[in-house]
Amino acid sequence: MAVKRIGVIGSGQLGRMMALAATHLDTEFVFFDEASESPCSNLGKSIQPSSDNALKAFIESVDVVTYESENTDATLVDDINQQVPVYPSSISLLKSQHRLTEKSFFQSIGIQTADFRKVESLADLTSAVEELGLPIILKTTREGYDGKGQAMIKEASDVEAAWQTLQGTELIAEAFVHFSRELSVIAARNVKGDVEIYPLAENDHSAGILRVSRVPVKALSEQKLTQARQYITTLLNELNHVGVLTLELFDTDSGLIANEMAPRVHNSGHWSIEGAYCSQFENHIRAICDMPLGSTSARQEYAAMINIIGKHGNQESVLKQENSFYHAYGKSERLNRKIGHINIVASNEAEIERTIKQYSAFVSECGE
Ligand code: AMP
Repeated sequence: MAVKRIGVIGSGQLGRMMALAATHLDTEFVFFDEASESPCSNLGKSIQPSSDNALKAFIESVDVVTYESENTDATLVDDINQQVPVYPSSISLLKSQHRLTEKSFFQSIGIQTADFRKVESLADLTSAVEELGLPIILKTTREGYDGKGQAMIKEASDVEAAWQTLQGTELIAEAFVHFSRELSVIAARNVKGDVEIYPLAENDHSAGILRVSRVPVKALSEQKLTQARQYITTLLNELNHVGVLTLELFDTDSGLIANEMAPRVHNSGHWSIEGAYCSQFENHIRAICDMPLGSTSARQEYAAMINIIGKHGNQESVLKQENSFYHAYGKSERLNRKIGHINIVASNEAEIERTIKQYSAFVSECGE
């Protein structure tokens, strides 16, 4: 097998985990990013976009390109794609960069979403409240993540304040979804169009940030599992997506409601590094290199992932445990920054829950 040279736009922890997961497949990585010190330092060559002839040098040094963020410039992706393939394509990017486009697309292919309205003025917002009812979540259509760029409108008297906070950019008003829990479904599709889907994860957030993911999802009906698998397969095929794709879902009495997608490997799939036969990172690289996809099945009955947020915490306590795996991203401590994660695998639920409890300091204190 010839060495495959993989370019990554970005050099954060997702690029780092791609490189760590795929170097054994005779791959080399080149990171295209301004950051000189990054989680990807030492894992490959770095090219800074502002340096002379940077783009030309990047394109000449790779066979295929991918990216780490849904906020990647779609024009850059199209420009590079004229010379070397970029996966996923700019279509997947453009659809996921804009909440209105994304939700309209979901509905057009039979994926349920919250009711929503475009909001460009206070009058639009007032109409949205009348039509959708309260509560409502007002969001920026672009660049919101981890709950940023959002305002909750619980009562009519909140409308003005929400508008004052977010006005000045295009907005979407979404009906509040009464869900019992948040789930995600992650899948990979390779250049040939083969699809492999990971077991769904249940995701606990706090202050808008993912804290814990658990696999499998408890008491998930066969009907909802089928619905999730259909949603992600339809999305992958409609987008002609190549690489990993993630869909975030709300679990409700009337089925699964899609919230948003990410055209990339995802925090709620980090469990797969030790928890699945082939991790989301390796499968992403296999997909874009048109290799056969690896099995997405879980290696053990139960797995969990705990984000390390803000502080590194007691690393030793994790390293001593046979069922636990500490992943540091080479990042310094900073409030609310994701700087690593812990994976746990077990053959029974009690052990998973006991171990999560043991690491409660990571879950509750590190980010606060
Ligand atoms: P987002 O930035 O769209 O991922 O939203 C961040 C979080 O806000 C989600 O993980 C949910 O917990 C919550 N959320 C977002 N949209 C809705 C909605 N329409 N109804 C209820 N909760 C929501």
